[in-house]
Amino acid sequence: MTQLNHRVALVTGSTSGIGLAMARRLAQAGAEIVMNGFGDPAAIDRLREEIAESAKTPVHFIPADLAKGAEAQALVKQTIAICGRIDILVNNAGIQHVAAIPDFPDDRWDAVIAINLSSAFHTSKIALADMQQRGWGRIINIASAHGLVASVNKSAYVAAKHGIVGLTKVTALENAKAQITCNAICPGWVDTPLVRKQIEARATAQHCSIDEATRQLVGEKQPSERFVTPEHLAELALFLCSDAGGSITGSAYSMDGGWTAQ
Ligand code: NAD
Repeated sequence: MTQLNHRVALVTGSTSGIGLAMARRLAQAGAEIVMNGFGDPAAIDRLREEIAESAKTPVHFIPADLAKGAEAQALVKQTIAICGRIDILVNNAGIQHVAAIPDFPDDRWDAVIAINLSSAFHTSKIALADMQQRGWGRIINIASAHGLVASVNKSAYVAAKHGIVGLTKVTALENAKAQITCNAICPGWVDTPLVRKQIEARATAQHCSIDEATRQLVGEKQPSERFVTPEHLAELALFLCSDAGGSITGSAYSMDGGWTAQ
């Protein structure tokens, strides 16, 4: 069983969805956790306390708007200042915007690229300097099936996710001789607020129920016709953090119910 006692893990965008499941799972394995993301401060504090109490490990929350490079770098610097080190970095925060290219708002393009791609450069830049001093580290970039294949109306998201798969490979190669690995995880559809918005938009556009819109959305891409779960993705992240994961680097791991096998 993978134990992460004495490891410090920062999970960006961990107030919701996939990042929250990853923060919980790494905490259960014994890591000291730094959470980050948006949300109601009281609700975030309750989550932080609940994870700390059930996992019996320190859990911190550091706010940072990852659309801003300086805040992304400061997030990692504060993690090191509070916890003394950073061993595991999960670059998970992300947003989506759906529109055809001629209608795609400039500010949404900039935001998707900044949060889904550039933030991982900024956090990795600071984290790697610390990991290299101690010769051990794990960076996990949450990409997407859209890091490997495209869909219409998602230009910024697909560009950012393909970009983060490329960044993953460069990070892996630059650190291959140290025990510092960098891998991407490429989920298919996962039932989180990010996808709920797309389901609601489809239900409105097609005048159908939420259940029917969900069935259509998942079924048209994902042969399993089932959502991938945040908990299963968190188990994969934990494995990548283990000693057994030490030779896996520069990979893009699909967990997508067969989406990209087609
Ligand atoms: P989510 O909306 O549940 O969570 C996103 C998290 O990112 C939240 O904690 C939010 O507060 C945080 N966040 C958003 N903008 C931020 C900013 N500017 N600064 C700091 N934090 C910010 O979504 P999710 O589905 O859990 O997505 C997590 C990651 O997984 C994203 O990178 C997403 O692209 C990726 N992903 C999701 C799916 C899916 O089907 N849900 C599939 C493939 C990949």
